[in-house]
Amino acid sequence: MPDPQAPCRHLAAVLHRDHGVTPSALGCVDCLAIGARWVHLRLCLTCGHVGCCDSSPNRHASKHARARSHPVIRSFEPGEAWAYCYPDDASLDELAAFAGEAPPVHYHAP
Ligand SMILES: [Zn+2]
Ligand SMILES: [Zn+2]
Ligand SMILES: [Zn+2]
Repeated sequence: MPDPQAPCRHLAAVLHRDHGVTPSALGCVDCLAIGARWVHLRLCLTCGHVGCCDSSPNRHASKHARARSHPVIRSFEPGEAWAYCYPDDASLDELAAFAGEAPPVHYHAP
């Protein structure tokens, strides 16, 4: 049965999750590995991969989502609670964060 609060089944699933994910790093893990910079950070809600947004040179969050078939991310930026589903190009304005999923500051590249 469709969830009236969610535009797709992936976002319905994250709305009803009962535990969070552990962020893989306080920055884009793939940029940190190659010494690259990012603009904004995204958190994979399947595995906790922290990747950079599509405005960043390397777009690691969407690459990760495609490569692993992990559909949903949330913003990993302070004050932002939206979630996004790549395969359905759909979003939620607000998704409750579990411990560690809502960073207190913007993490900069070193
Ligand atoms: Zn979806
Ligand atoms: Zn990156
Ligand atoms: Zn993932």
